[in-house]
Amino acid sequence: MARKGRAVVARELGKPVVVEEVTFDPPARGEVVVKIAAVGVCHSDLSGTNGTIALPLPLILGHEAAGTVIEVGEGVTDAAVGDHVLANWIYMCGRCRYCNIGRPVLCDQQGKALYTMLDGTSRTRDAAGNALNVFSGVGVMAEYAVMHERNLVKYDPKVPADRAALVGCAVTTGVGAAINTARVVPGSTCGVWGAGGVGLNVIQGCAIAGAERIFAIDTSDTKLELAKKFGATDVIKAPAGEDLTKSLKKATGGGFDYAFECVGSGEVAAAAYKALRRGGLAVVVGVAPASATTTVVTRTLPFEEKTLTGSYFGSARPREDFPRMLSLYSAGKLKLDELVTQRYQIDDAPRAFADLESGKNARGVIVF
Ligand SMILES: [Zn+2]
Ligand SMILES: [Zn+2]
Repeated sequence: MARKGRAVVARELGKPVVVEEVTFDPPARGEVVVKIAAVGVCHSDLSGTNGTIALPLPLILGHEAAGTVIEVGEGVTDAAVGDHVLANWIYMCGRCRYCNIGRPVLCDQQGKALYTMLDGTSRTRDAAGNALNVFSGVGVMAEYAVMHERNLVKYDPKVPADRAALVGCAVTTGVGAAINTARVVPGSTCGVWGAGGVGLNVIQGCAIAGAERIFAIDTSDTKLELAKKFGATDVIKAPAGEDLTKSLKKATGGGFDYAFECVGSGEVAAAAYKALRRGGLAVVVGVAPASATTTVVTRTLPFEEKTLTGSYFGSARPREDFPRMLSLYSAGKLKLDELVTQRYQIDDAPRAFADLESGKNARGVIVF
């Protein structure tokens, strides 16, 4: 059956988001309807409103959510009514080369569900009856969401929804960059540029992996205080563009073993690479504007055996990693409670985005 409910929509580039009543059509083959319980407000959602992530508008935002399956379409085998699920914002076909070698975030087919359902159509309509696109094929910043069963991961509801939701993006992106992409080893020295929702999780990922020293570099005192809570041993307040290479090399006795760029800047990626010791690994996690470039001194690659790489959604295998993250939380090893610094009602969404933009939150979460 069709349902009506509120959704957070980006209507015009660079304009505040609007909350409007939307019609959710019944699920087609392979799709399910999820009643959303909580959804994180991620920097990528903001990027969807200002064109940094260029998805066609009008667009229902949201890609980091927890909820309950309330209806399943024909042929659905991975989910049943009543299942507690997390949205996975990357469609994973389960059949392509990347899915088969255990790298589903690189799935060949993901481009088919970037802002629509897999078949290119939409299950969401505005009051005038016009189709609304959905962020990353999920569009979960709404009371309901229709999504493909392969965009879902089941979870144990003993973890509260407003914390479990964060595993669907920020936590997995950050912790995954440290433990899956970089494979940080105990006793190492790490540097993390940017202590927002993702950066804090890189920091705690490095801590979980047993890093001995973790430097956090940010412009905000509030975020640097949070960084200490998440495991940073050293904090440095500096503007994103400042060249800290000399002082960082001195402070670390030669440079970082691992450096993480969580700002979304080509220059910061270069700075992270420069601050590595011989044999070090720099990981770009932030999403820089399409025009950004990063320059490295070529001969440092052979002479110093340094590596510059990237991490997409924490190189995760969501159906393995989401439950693993929640187990770490239940065991007291992963911080989620401290990550949620503000809760909002859906009607407060414009304020939630303004707070995100001004850097007020580690993570703001809309709860239903
Ligand atoms: Zn996100
Ligand atoms: Zn695939």
